[in-house]
Amino acid sequence: MSVTAVIAAAGSGQRLGAGGPKAFVPLAGKSLVEWSIAAFRAAPSVRSIVVACPPGHVHDLAGGDLGVVDGGATRAESVSNALAAVDTELVAIHDAARPLVTPELIEGVIATLADDPDAAGAIAATPVTDTIKRVGTTDADPHDADPQVQCNVFRSSEARNALHRVERTLDRRRLWAAQTPQVFRVGALREALAADSEALARATDEAMMIEAAGGKVLIHPSPPENLKVTTPFDLRVAELLLRQ
Ligand code: C5P
Repeated sequence: MSVTAVIAAAGSGQRLGAGGPKAFVPLAGKSLVEWSIAAFRAAPSVRSIVVACPPGHVHDLAGGDLGVVDGGATRAESVSNALAAVDTELVAIHDAARPLVTPELIEGVIATLADDPDAAGAIAATPVTDTIKRVGTTDADPHDADPQVQCNVFRSSEARNALHRVERTLDRRRLWAAQTPQVFRVGALREALAADSEALARATDEAMMIEAAGGKVLIHPSPPENLKVTTPFDLRVAELLLRQ
């Protein structure tokens, strides 16, 4: 199977606080995005790589074997921009924020999809180990703020009741944390990304859009090392693991 890799690298990296886009932050000798590029180059099924870059960074990667496109205001827009340059049957979408991805994991997710002709996609995912509580409001996204700011906000009992009241506990045996790579049949992904712009803006991964369109998405178990770098703490953990 020949596959194009699309690396979403156009995020601002605000929560990392590195003073620039997260994908270009140095990590164990190269930039964050370069670790993912190296893993995809070493994956035998991957024919070409397209990177969606933040404004002003296209020239940092242009000139070699990579396709480089401008990212968009949302992750879905960045992926759509890159998808325009894809001419293979399968596409592997990957977050530059996951620098510990390996060629073995990439090939594993591709094989999971290739083995099931009815499936539209296969995604790397890891079983949830925490007990997951659902709260009664979506007014505040706890992922948006600094944890210290969140603690201060939730110290007021009014805010605690409104935002932190547990509605129910989900059955952990059925919960998986979705990661990337996420591999899709290109036609199915193009159709799913033609959804309305509000749904696209809310999408935190591509599989969500395929699921909403009724497509079959399979899980491919991934190791916990495939972590996502969001905070300075994650960057330190990734640095330690990559230096090993
Ligand atoms: O914001 P979050 O950490 O969920 O972003 C996941 C990935 O999507 C990151 O690799 C980021 O660079 C990418 N992204 C993008 N374009 C955007 C926003 C995020 O390529 N507009």
